[in-house]
This record gives sequence, C-alpha cells and structure tokens, in this order.
Amino acid sequence: RAGVPFAADALAWDKQDGLLPAIVQDADTRRVLMLGYMDREALRVTLESGHVTFFSRSRQRLWTKGETSGHTLDLVSIEADCDADTLLVQARPHGPTCHLGRESCFAGAPAGAGFLQRLDTLVATRERERPAGSYTTRLLEGGIRRVAQKVGEEGVETALAAVTQSDDELLGEAGDLLYHLLVLLRARGLGLGDVEALLEQRHAGGS
Ligand code: AMP
Ligand code: ZN
Ligand code: ZN
Ligand code: ZN
Repeated sequence: RAGVPFAADALAWDKQDGLLPAIVQDADTRRVLMLGYMDREALRVTLESGHVTFFSRSRQRLWTKGETSGHTLDLVSIEADCDADTLLVQARPHGPTCHLGRESCFAGAPAGAGFLQRLDTLVATRERERPAGSYTTRLLEGGIRRVAQKVGEEGVETALAAVTQSDDELLGEAGDLLYHLLVLLRARGLGLGDVEALLEQRHAGGS
C-alpha cells in the first residue's frame, strides 16, 4: 500500500526554514509513533535507504532513527498533506520508537487498530521469524493444506455452536476461526488489511 506519490520540489520547504514536520505512524497498527523534522536531504535519504531519517534540530545534522539504538523505522510510504507542508510517514518499527523504551513517544496514543489487526501483525511476525515453540510457527510449517483444513473444521464447529451450544462456546469457536483464518491468509501472503480493503470497496460501491 504505497502512499500518494508527490514531487519533493512541490513541497512547502520555504515555510519553516527548509524543514517539514513528519508524523510517523505504524503502518500495521496505525498508532502514531513520533514526530520528527525532515529537510530535503533527510527525505531523499529516507526514500533511498528505506530507513526513516530526520534532520535533528538539536544536533543540526541528519539523524537516521535507530542509528545508535538499532530501533530503526522501515519505510512503508510517505505522503504530503493537503497544502504540502507536513509529511505522514508510514513505517514498520524495529523495537520501541521512543528513546524512553515505549512503543510510541505519545504515551496515550491509542493503537489505531483494534486487537484483530494487532493479532494479524503478530501472525505476520511469526510467519517471517518462525520462532520455535510457537503454535503459529507449527501451523505454518504444516503447510497450507493443513491450515486450510483447520479453518474448515473451525468453521463447522462455529456453525454447530451457533445452533446447539452456549454463547461462551460459540465465542470460543469464533475466536478459533478468526485466528486460524488470519494464519491461512498469511500463508498466502495476505492480511486482514487486504480483506478490509475489499469489504470497504464493496461498501463504497454499494454492492
Ligand atoms: P536512536 O535514533 O534510536 O539511535 O536514538 C539516538 C538518540 O536520538 C537518542 O539518544 C535520543 O536522544 C534521540 N531519540 C531517539 N528516538 C527519539 C524519539 N522518538 N524522539 C526524540 N528523540 C529521540
Ligand atoms: Zn498542512
Ligand atoms: Zn520519545
Ligand atoms: Zn474450535
């Protein structure tokens, strides 16, 4: 999901001493992570390296986030706002973004996404890293047919629970179904966001 393309020359660099505020948002959870400033060079380095880089006003030099801590921000997309004087940077953080060890510099910043989206992000991490001892790893290593079979079973169990069992049992089966569905989508390289985009498109189309 790339951001809206823009020409660096069309940005309002002259408004604030050649610097633009850049809001960094977690591309998966949509949580606001931090605010930094970019000059032309920082934007160029960010786009070229794929690591979010700012101009540090206190140090008066380019600063690649994570250069000492290792907590880098992998660039996903950048877009400018309506009057081209502010940037919105979508990124995937490696570790806490705030130097105080918190995920976000804004203590109260809510996860923009609900738990299901965060679970999907966790499943994606498991798929990439395949940690030993993880149930998700084991499922994925079993192959897509095995995961597909689990989704089928959980679907049937959910349907049965809906007509013959208690709310607690139905909720339990629905939870199993949603989790296994996320793993199945991920095994095909897809995520919850892809399903959401499709549903949103249908919604907008009124069909
Ligand atoms: P880092 O870029 O993570 O290697 O951190 C290097 C230095 O940049 C830290 O010691 C802080 O002074 C500063 N710093 C890191 N992260 C932030 C942040 N999110 N907001 C403001 N300053 C930061
Ligand atoms: Zn603006
Ligand atoms: Zn901070
Ligand atoms: Zn079940």
